[in-house]
Amino acid sequence: MSILQHYDVHGLITFSKLSSIFNLKEKVDFKHKHDLVYKYECKDINCDATYIGETSRRISERMRDHVYRDKNSHVYKHIQQTGHSEPQENEFSILETGFKNFKRRKLAEAIQIRNQRPSLNTQEQSYPLKLFR
Ligand SMILES: [Zn+2]
Repeated sequence: MSILQHYDVHGLITFSKLSSIFNLKEKVDFKHKHDLVYKYECKDINCDATYIGETSRRISERMRDHVYRDKNSHVYKHIQQTGHSEPQENEFSILETGFKNFKRRKLAEAIQIRNQRPSLNTQEQSYPLKLFR
C-alpha cells in the first residue's frame, strides 16, 4: 500500500466518524426543539395519513403524547383505528420553529394546514384565520 492510499483510507475513516457525530448532534437537537409547527406522516405501506400540529413544548414530549398519552390526539386515534405501527421519530418533521408567541404559532399552524391539507386534521381543529384579519 502506498503512502497516498494509506492517507486516503485514513481520511475516509476520520470523515465517517465526524459525520456520525454530526448526525447524533442533529438528532439530539431535533428532540429538544420547541415552539414549533410539526408534521406527522404515517410511514405504513399504502397509508398517506398526515397531521400537522403545533406545540410550545419539546417535540419529543409532543411525540410521546401521540404515541401513549393523548387519547384525543388524531395521530393516536389513527394508530388505534388502523393498527398501524406506533409513530416513530422519523415520521415527524419540523416545518417551522421560533414561535414563542401562541397566536403566531397557531397562525403558522393554520396556514400550513390550509396549504398542505393533512388528512388527519379536522376542520374545527384548525385555528380560524379570520381572527388575525
Ligand atoms: Zn397510517
